[in-house]
Amino acid sequence: MSKRQFIAGATCPACGAIDKIQRCEEQDNVWMECIACGMVRDLDAAPPAADANVQTVELKFPKK
Ligand SMILES: [Zn+2]
Repeated sequence: MSKRQFIAGATCPACGAIDKIQRCEEQDNVWMECIACGMVRDLDAAPPAADANVQTVELKFPKK
């Protein structure tokens, strides 16, 4: 099983496409893929800034 989520505003470092980057999770592995050119990059060491923005938005929701 794997989770896939588009990273809003992320730019592909390989082809420059915007909003074509998917963040993928499978067990202990985290990576990103560009659906435009097929670029794959490991995210374990350096998560992109756009990913931090997504987490900030989520924190705005009130806890119930
Ligand atoms: Zn690309």
